[in-house]
Amino acid sequence: MTRLGALTGWLLCLVFSVCTAATELASPSVLEKSLAELSDTLKSDFDLSLLPELRALRRDAQAIDALEIVAQTLLLEGQIRQQYGDYQQSLILHNDALQLAIKRNDLALMAQSRLAIAKLEMDLERYNYAQRSLDDVHQLITQLNNHAQTMPYVAQLLLLEHRLWQGYLYVLLGSYHQAVAELHTDDLVVAGAPELVDKLYLVRAWALLKLGRFQQAQPILNRVAQSDTLIRNQRMKIRFKLLQSMAWLQSGDFQQTLETAMPALEATFATRFLEEQADLQFVLSNAYVQLGDYQLAHLYLKRYALTKDALNFQKRNNKLLQLESQYALATQKQQLSLLEKDNALQAQEIFRHQQILENTRLAQQRGALLLILALALLGFLYWRWQNKRYLSLLEEQVKQRTAELDERNRQLQALSYSDSLTGLHNRHYFFSEADKLLTQARSASQSTIFCLIDIDLFKQINDSYGHATGDLVLQQFAEVVTKELREQDELVRWGGEEFLLVMPQTDMLTAQQVVERLHNAVAQFSFCQDSQPLSCTCSIGFAAFPLRLAEAQLGSWEQVLELADNCLYRAKHGGRNAWVGLNLPAQPLGMTLQQLQQNLDAFTVSSTKLAG
Ligand code: GH3
Ligand code: MG
Ligand code: MG
Repeated sequence: MTRLGALTGWLLCLVFSVCTAATELASPSVLEKSLAELSDTLKSDFDLSLLPELRALRRDAQAIDALEIVAQTLLLEGQIRQQYGDYQQSLILHNDALQLAIKRNDLALMAQSRLAIAKLEMDLERYNYAQRSLDDVHQLITQLNNHAQTMPYVAQLLLLEHRLWQGYLYVLLGSYHQAVAELHTDDLVVAGAPELVDKLYLVRAWALLKLGRFQQAQPILNRVAQSDTLIRNQRMKIRFKLLQSMAWLQSGDFQQTLETAMPALEATFATRFLEEQADLQFVLSNAYVQLGDYQLAHLYLKRYALTKDALNFQKRNNKLLQLESQYALATQKQQLSLLEKDNALQAQEIFRHQQILENTRLAQQRGALLLILALALLGFLYWRWQNKRYLSLLEEQVKQRTAELDERNRQLQALSYSDSLTGLHNRHYFFSEADKLLTQARSASQSTIFCLIDIDLFKQINDSYGHATGDLVLQQFAEVVTKELREQDELVRWGGEEFLLVMPQTDMLTAQQVVERLHNAVAQFSFCQDSQPLSCTCSIGFAAFPLRLAEAQLGSWEQVLELADNCLYRAKHGGRNAWVGLNLPAQPLGMTLQQLQQNLDAFTVSSTKLAG
């Protein structure tokens, strides 16, 4: 059987390598098929020679990320290793499969992995752990049933397997009644898993035989005997024979017991099935006892004890190995969690550093922005300050220039209004100020006197003493006259050696007195005293403003001036060194200017007349 398995395995290996050579990456369906064939082969005998093939299959599955196939190969390898007592590796492989199932959240695969672990625990006689694993499996199956999408068939198969191993555990624990109660298929649809059903019935028969109920066990054994599972699975065949021999023994058919047990025992010699070997030896010993052959009975009992010893030794060894594996696994897990913690810490540190960097960058950006804003603000303020300064400077300059201009204008006006020789206002000044002067004169209670004063024979002075002396005389003349005037009186250089005197708020009588005083002052003054003293006289003609010519007709200041000139002419004509004034009545004259001019003498007063 072993050779057959190896041959099949080799053939499969060949087919497999041809397949993998043909295509770089196998499709999942091809891999699934290979897996099914492999597990089918392995069920009959866990052959070590199939391991390379199994691993190649796992590699291919990993390459296309077919995780379920990977997990199945892990479980299969675990089972092979378990059979050969490599419990450490077996536990690791089963755990790997479980982790993959958890990662994929595959409930069925989780249940399968847990079942494999439970079987391993039973082999190691760690029944508590085995029970725990089986409880987990039961819970997973309940979840699977609640899951709407799960195929009920998968759950049924898993339930069947769970029942088989739970029953097996009860037997191992000596709870045979519980085992019998557990081991049934009444409520299950089990078509398609004959081997599993046969296994379950064999365990049930075993429990019944342990209870001494061989009558109930026998029909079950008969039923299994007809199944072809026994042809394919060598261990099951030996187990079946063991149970059958036990049944014969209990039924009292000792000859049959020997005939059944003996070949089965021989079959165990080339195998690792020490358990069955020991049990068969014990059955044989019992049978020989019953047959009275104590020598053989003793021989088989001795052999039984030896096999049991070997078995116990193996189990002890297994336990040690298992402890080691547990320890290795725990250490591995611890290291892994330490590494994870370390990684998490490092990640945290990196994150912290990144955050610090980010914060610094942000702070720098903010700082730069604030600096730029501050600089811009400063620049703006400086620009505004400069602008203001420049504007105020300009304003100041404009003010200064305007003031200068005003001053110059004022000076110019003063210049244009004054006579440079005498310092008196000139004719131009009078013309520009006349309106203002006469508006005041019109509203005043008393009249304004217009006097024209002309130096007598001035040409002769010039001719005799020179032009410079003439100028000096003109200056001194102005001073002499001004001395005789009031504050409000205005003396204007009218042109050449002729002056206009305007005396506001002055009646004709006062005017005559002032003119007389003036006239005399000039006549008595000694001009050019420093060099050569000389005397000169002047002639004066004057008239009053306002001039009432006719009812509601007032004469203009030009007309008054014309009349004063007429008076001056008369003074000159009368021999010079005299004054003539026009003394008009207060009421309107009732004549035109021309008529007045023609009858001027009727209204004049003069120095000569006074003197006369
Ligand atoms: P009359 O008595 O008729 O007024 O005779 P007059 O010589 O004074 O009059 P006339 O009009 O013939 O001469 C005036 C002179 O005054 C002529 C002119 O040269 C002189 N004169 C005018 N202005 C100035 C001046 O500013 N300085 C000097 N030195 N002489 C002047
Ligand atoms: Mg003159
Ligand atoms: Mg003159």
